[in-house]
Amino acid sequence: MLPSAAASSYPAPTIPTYSSSCPPLLGGADAAGPPAPLRGLSLPRLLKNCAGAVALPQGRQLHALSYKLRLSSDLYVQTSLLSMYASCGQLDDALRVFDRMPHRNIVAWTAAVDACIRSDRPGAAVSLFLRMLESGMRPDRFAIVSLLSACAHLGALDLGRAAHGYVEKDAEFSGVQPNELTFLALLCGCSHAGLVDEGRHYFDMMRTKYGIAPGVKHYSCMVDMLGRAGLLDEALQMALTMPAKPNHIIWGSLLSACRIHKNLSLAEQVMEIAVGEGCPVGDTSHYVIMSSMYREAELVEKMASMRTKVGRKPQGKSWIEVGSSVYEFGVRGNGGHSYPMWGELRTMLEQVEEKAGDGKVENPLDAHSEKTALAFGLLKVRGSAPVRISKNLRICEDCHSLMKSVSRVYKREIVIRDCTRFHRFTEGQCSCHDYW
Ligand SMILES: [Zn+2]
Ligand SMILES: [Zn+2]
Repeated sequence: MLPSAAASSYPAPTIPTYSSSCPPLLGGADAAGPPAPLRGLSLPRLLKNCAGAVALPQGRQLHALSYKLRLSSDLYVQTSLLSMYASCGQLDDALRVFDRMPHRNIVAWTAAVDACIRSDRPGAAVSLFLRMLESGMRPDRFAIVSLLSACAHLGALDLGRAAHGYVEKDAEFSGVQPNELTFLALLCGCSHAGLVDEGRHYFDMMRTKYGIAPGVKHYSCMVDMLGRAGLLDEALQMALTMPAKPNHIIWGSLLSACRIHKNLSLAEQVMEIAVGEGCPVGDTSHYVIMSSMYREAELVEKMASMRTKVGRKPQGKSWIEVGSSVYEFGVRGNGGHSYPMWGELRTMLEQVEEKAGDGKVENPLDAHSEKTALAFGLLKVRGSAPVRISKNLRICEDCHSLMKSVSRVYKREIVIRDCTRFHRFTEGQCSCHDYW
């Protein structure tokens, strides 16, 4: 095992210490440190950029580079690699990195648990968490918040409550003073886990016990949590009485909650208030939600008036990785025949619509990019491996319900990372429970 300065002091400084035995890569090392072109660059920071941009091919190149730089046992670099793969939807690669780490600290464990949760694999998250306890590692608050949200997905409420008790004790006795970020993490955990009472408890606790004034983000979590739980009036009251002006995210999560809980009249009220407050500015997602609610209520004229406000969206694009290649799909109009295997793709798209869609076969040239990517995946991804797609925009409701039924009809797991979250479709269900 190579000793490494960066590994011994997590979090490491932004520039990792390159070993002086580093091979003369990209121009050669000098006695003073890293090879000249790498000076001032940080592998973890580059990996973080890749994660943010979902740039998997570049991330893989950096992974190869980490071997050349002999950083394959550097804890900080490896944890960054793990997170990069998780952000790019490659959980198996992320866990492979984790399994090969010669030693792991709490941050690495938490990153692995978190990777499972972000990929909607709560079962894997819980078993990793148990492995972490067995290894003698003491979980910190963040690992527990991650676990809470995994438990909620699994419906493992008892384990969730035990973890909750642990957080409480941890905060009370460890002598660590929780700060705004601690509470933000706790509230987000409670929101995703549907633990409304616990959320309220922490929200009160931060003010009364620790004298921390909740900021916009804390209110945002609370409104989201109440809305998800169907406590729509309480959520609206919280938005209306918070000290700062609610932002478009808060109005957006209220509208989403109204859509999920099918409360059109409250949604109209919320929209009116939001517009009165000068929201949305430069964000048309609120109109998209309203127009889909009007469509569901069959109020065609109102739907049309919302549609006109949505305006032009950026072009939708989807990517799918098969083997070592990444294929891009977007609306091409009459240029569809330039796709690889266009003939087979077209037949597959029609077959998917007939078997799993609503029966009406649209012109495959107008299909949303994720549908084309899906058809390509069904043709090219071997065996029972999941079909993994990334998309630059939010997946629409039609595609979402098609994916659900394809996962059932074709007995195939489909994972889509859209611009908001992961969707894992299995046996006719999506891990987001239709909330996104
Ligand atoms: Zn769509
Ligand atoms: Zn979903």
